[in-house]
Amino acid sequence: MSEHNKLKTTKMNYDKDRPKAENPLKIMDLTLRDGHQSLFATRGRTEDMIPIAEKIDQIGFWAVETWGGATFDTTHRYLNEDPWERIRTLKRYIKNTPFSMLLRAQNLVGYRNYADDLAEAFVERSAINGIDVFRTFDALNDYRNFETVVPIIKKCGKHFQGCICYTMTEPRMGGEVYNIDYYVNKAKELAKMGADTICIKDMAGLIAPYDAYALIKALKEAVSIPIHLHSHFTSGMASMSHLKAIEAGVDIIDTCMSPYAYRTSHPAIEPLVMTLLGTDRDTGFDIKALAEINAILEKEIMPKYRHLLDDTKMSIIDINVLLHQTPGGMLSNLINQLREMDALDKIDEVYKELPRVRKDLGQIPLVTPTSQIVGIQTVNNVLFDEDKERYKMITGQVKDLCYGLYGKTAVPINPEVIKKALKGYPRGEEPITCRPAEVLTPELKKAQEEIKELAVDIDDEILYAIFPVTGKKYLKYKYGKEKVPKEMLPKTLEDAKAELELITKAKAGLLVEKKEMKEYQEECENLREFKVFVDDDYFKVGVEEIGGAPVVSYVQPAAPLAPVPAAAPKPAPAPAAPAAEKPAAAPAAASASGGSPLAAPLPGLIIDYKVKEGDSVKKGDTVVILEAMKMENTLGAHTDGVIKEIKYESGDNVAKGDVLCVIG
Ligand code: MN
Repeated sequence: MSEHNKLKTTKMNYDKDRPKAENPLKIMDLTLRDGHQSLFATRGRTEDMIPIAEKIDQIGFWAVETWGGATFDTTHRYLNEDPWERIRTLKRYIKNTPFSMLLRAQNLVGYRNYADDLAEAFVERSAINGIDVFRTFDALNDYRNFETVVPIIKKCGKHFQGCICYTMTEPRMGGEVYNIDYYVNKAKELAKMGADTICIKDMAGLIAPYDAYALIKALKEAVSIPIHLHSHFTSGMASMSHLKAIEAGVDIIDTCMSPYAYRTSHPAIEPLVMTLLGTDRDTGFDIKALAEINAILEKEIMPKYRHLLDDTKMSIIDINVLLHQTPGGMLSNLINQLREMDALDKIDEVYKELPRVRKDLGQIPLVTPTSQIVGIQTVNNVLFDEDKERYKMITGQVKDLCYGLYGKTAVPINPEVIKKALKGYPRGEEPITCRPAEVLTPELKKAQEEIKELAVDIDDEILYAIFPVTGKKYLKYKYGKEKVPKEMLPKTLEDAKAELELITKAKAGLLVEKKEMKEYQEECENLREFKVFVDDDYFKVGVEEIGGAPVVSYVQPAAPLAPVPAAAPKPAPAPAAPAAEKPAAAPAAASASGGSPLAAPLPGLIIDYKVKEGDSVKKGDTVVILEAMKMENTLGAHTDGVIKEIKYESGDNVAKGDVLCVIG
């Protein structure tokens, strides 16, 4: 143990004469961004940040992370909030502590590389709106993706923090690709680019304590700029890794307020304050002031988000990282995706397929958006591949990755996957080797033209340019053109209390359930319920699969549900797959216009129809782009014919099995 960390004296009255540390550890608080992003799917609302904002400003944090990452997306997509307004509002309460944002370099706050003109405008507007520290990362650690944003950060006089995404292919740091030399070289690259600080971004909680020690030591020797450690608690190692990093001389550490800490989030600040109290790295923070903030979060804020907390497990850590290096957040995404697809039994196959897909795709770090890219492709492979054919349903993003649109991968991508992915790829079948944004045409002007009827200022325009579908929808709510859906409105503390009462009653066994149909359904474990239209009448039909032969068990008239005209029973697994080979498991739902329905193979958001009613299509022609878990899937016609009916429009959400269009 380092001499510096020893207590100066054991006879101290800390309230009166707590010694000032010679080299106090600096802390960035992540409660208002990564904290709720990790624990409640980034659903934290600005109004729930205000009650603690002034108190947080008093603590003495090096910076507070308030923005970026997924917040830009979730605010406008789910919370009916203007993402830009969040910075401006919080600035009114947090006046002394710098604001940090997580910037996905050329991906900005989205999931693909954007053109240079949009990237420049976005960074400039972020700075003007109030961001001081730009924590910048690239999912592939390809710093050519920093070349556009960094000069703008510097031009605005702001702090450029360069990140190195921490990842590995072995149980611990090392191996052929991600060894200590790799990280030291990356740090030197960042220093050359003018980084004000360097952050080791351990988004999956992979870094083991002794690796943290070795890494921080090596970085401190290699470069002279301050080193910052960001490590998620997911695997349970982060508190230990923090301490070893402090012993190795790390300058800045990330933590959360305790109610927003641990699990897939970060270690809490309070134990760290106590750990370092009276040492040369003492933070100097007032633990009582921290406790006051915690009390507010615990009593007034957290209850509103209880329903978003994952309470399906007793354990607060996820040892999958220790077992097979799969980041926790990514796993829960995969599990949700499989659950929605009724394919949870395939999880073991997913575990096996994931490292194969990652290797095929160049051993890329698993962080947004690459974790989704690898994750969804893995799920697609497990669900749709056949023995004779791998990569049957390749997502648009994997195609882009193969083309080089995300940058250079740590090791080359499997040439066979490239060949398959780029067959008919519109930009060309030969991958690029230049900086990705060089092949992107400017996009801001075009977006401004498209949204001029709705957008009022440049911030509206940028929102639309980055998120055209959900951004446009939000702007309609913002300017009163459409009514805000009920599910986007905030939950009150009273709502939360009423829910808790109900949960408590249920736990005590005091809730009485309505029986009838429910009871019948429970008796028949193979029962599936379908919604069927016959002429203008709408029925719920229960179908039991007994020994493979479908048996209709009940038919119940039902009130028509407005946007769901008909649902195909068990849709063909992939639209490109020959649907006719497999007999339908239940009587096919009659479509009003006849013809053959194309059903959504995944739940998701309709991005765009590439056809209109009356168009002729050949089997395999692109019909609709469906976004599932942020990844775009191109759905092709499953048969030759004419588009008879289009059931949804851009921006609509669909469930698995919903009929997207009818081809006849
Ligand atoms: Mn993080």
